Amino acid sequence: MICPYCTYVDNNIKIPEVSGIGVETFFVDCPNCGKDIWIITGYTEKEVSKEHTMIVGERRGTELMKTFIKNTKDIEFIRKTSDKSVIDFEVFDLRLNLIGYLEIVERNCTINAYRDTMFNKSKIQKGRELQEENNLPVIILIKFVDCWAYHKVSDTFKYRVGMDPSYPQYRKLQKYDDSQVTTFIPVEGLKVLKFRDLCFDGKRKSKINIIVN
Ligand SMILES: [Zn+2]
Repeated sequence: MICPYCTYVDNNIKIPEVSGIGVETFFVDCPNCGKDIWIITGYTEKEVSKEHTMIVGERRGTELMKTFIKNTKDIEFIRKTSDKSVIDFEVFDLRLNLIGYLEIVERNCTINAYRDTMFNKSKIQKGRELQEENNLPVIILIKFVDCWAYHKVSDTFKYRVGMDPSYPQYRKLQKYDDSQVTTFIPVEGLKVLKFRDLCFDGKRKSKINIIVN
């Protein structure tokens, strides 16, 4: 488990394999801070239209970016990367020096809902290239339902790759390219950030323990 409140990690408390969408259940009390940790799995919202989804998505992206800047000292602004990079943003400090690259994603589940968080393999590869070329960090920032966390793309970390079982073509594909390959990052290896703007604590239902594998 990884605590969304105090950032404590306990590898002995295994994150359960929860399947299904819209699951909302109590997981465990944090052994360090004592707060209730909940599991909420993702859900799919009915799409009004592609355009609507895009506009809403962009607005949300801006909101997340502004929230991150507001809570992070030494960052002056963030702008979209100019090339066709798969990493979205360049980050500048108060003296307007480029200090790194940033990708912001939102997951509509809590941090302990799944053992791994998934990214396209090409994103991690592009991140590694950028890091190597510029000697600047590439950060993937993830807004979960109950916390903000990040992963710094690493040259040495052994990323587990495979097909995402939820990918629609999963069963049909015999051969696939890198854009369809998924990288799995264990959530217990993420760094939880201290600020909790836009986060939700769970607790909508009564506390019922679930079976931990
Ligand atoms: Zn805690």
